[in-house]
Amino acid sequence: MRTGSEQVCAYIALGSNLSDPVQQITRAFAALDAIPETRCVLNSSLYASRPMGEIEQADYINAAATLETCLSPRNLLHCLQDIESRQGRVRGEVRWGPRTLDLDLLIYSDWQCHDPELTIPHPGLSQRNFVLFPLYEISPGLMVPGLGSLQGLVKKASMIGLQRLETECEMSVS
Ligand code: ADP
Ligand code: MG
Repeated sequence: MRTGSEQVCAYIALGSNLSDPVQQITRAFAALDAIPETRCVLNSSLYASRPMGEIEQADYINAAATLETCLSPRNLLHCLQDIESRQGRVRGEVRWGPRTLDLDLLIYSDWQCHDPELTIPHPGLSQRNFVLFPLYEISPGLMVPGLGSLQGLVKKASMIGLQRLETECEMSVS
């Protein structure tokens, strides 16, 4: 079990479709950088995507970020959930319903875990184009533990319903 002390790379998927999504994602990049023992070293462009599932809801803004962190995976997940709450996330009963902010821990070093509370790599990673393409933008050479190269996963995916936006996030990353 990892306790977290050495620095590792972790990758985060961000999504929002409520209360000014572009602003939500921009704020979230800064909040990720402010997590204790953690730096947000890279963030992707913003992407617009069609919502998943049957619910009528607004399109999403998505992005990905690279973190360097000394936190354990579980502590990092709890910090992500804190940021979601601070940005007005209300956990409803509707799966894939609208949200101000969704932060998913996609990859944590070479770690794999299949617990319902924390599954890594994130189970949606390989099927969701709004996760794959932003991640590929910031880390094209990435190997996904148990799934092979990110490039291989991207090659099997389609950009249908996904649009990279011109407006890049203005936060400067350290
Ligand atoms: P979704 O992101 O699939 O729309 P939620 O954000 O509501 O769903 O998360 C539901 C649960 O998924 C959370 O309670 C969390 O513990 C769990 N979970 C499991 N693995 C992960 C992960 N890698 N990143 C984020 N949440 C995860
Ligand atoms: Mg989530």
